Amino acid sequence: MQEIESRKTHIRKGLLKWAKRNLRTFPWRQDVSPYRILVAEVLLKRTTSTAVERLFPSFVQAYPDISALAGARKKDLRQKLVQLGYHKKRAEIFIEMARYIMKKYHGRIPKTQEELLDIPHIGDYTANAILSLAYGIPAAMVDCNVIRIITRVFLKRLPEKTPQKIVQEVADLLSPKKDYQCYNYALLDLGALVCRSGTPKCKICPINRYCDYYTLGKPMMNDC
Ligand code: SF4
Repeated sequence: MQEIESRKTHIRKGLLKWAKRNLRTFPWRQDVSPYRILVAEVLLKRTTSTAVERLFPSFVQAYPDISALAGARKKDLRQKLVQLGYHKKRAEIFIEMARYIMKKYHGRIPKTQEELLDIPHIGDYTANAILSLAYGIPAAMVDCNVIRIITRVFLKRLPEKTPQKIVQEVADLLSPKKDYQCYNYALLDLGALVCRSGTPKCKICPINRYCDYYTLGKPMMNDC
């Protein structure tokens, strides 16, 4: 882990500086609350952020809290979600999650990773998004974009197809103790805008000096 220790301060600084000018704006990044983050993460499954951006405001207006979602009629919810696709399953996910939270936590979204992971359909990524973005508890968010960045940056140390558990450990080590919300957004957005699947834009990347993939001359990779 020496490799990570020696680069982590530079990587954090580079990302936080880049974030000041480059973060994307989305409705769920404004008026942040545990509920809005949870809704956004379910909506973002299997679709694009642009599609979710169009639906999100009217969705949270129609279903403003866990109680409204738990009491929703499946047919109405499906109809509301139809424009995103995957709507039957998405409606089921919303209802199962909301009813569980109503029953076990009286509509309050819990604040610990253990409790969050106990809720149906919530995995590590969504739990960490709720903790770090809404509750202000440091937690590294690791999705496909972040896996791609970390395995490229530490290519000399992390073999291809590194298990997600190991990538999560590296992400936890890299994550700062403050400004972690901005840092999490920066990693997600770097993955979407710069360190993209296929051909990354390494020349304009704020952390290229600390990236194995770039310094090794961009070898072939089967990345995520
Ligand atoms: S230098 Fe290239 S591969 Fe490395 S993190 Fe930046 S964009 Fe990704």
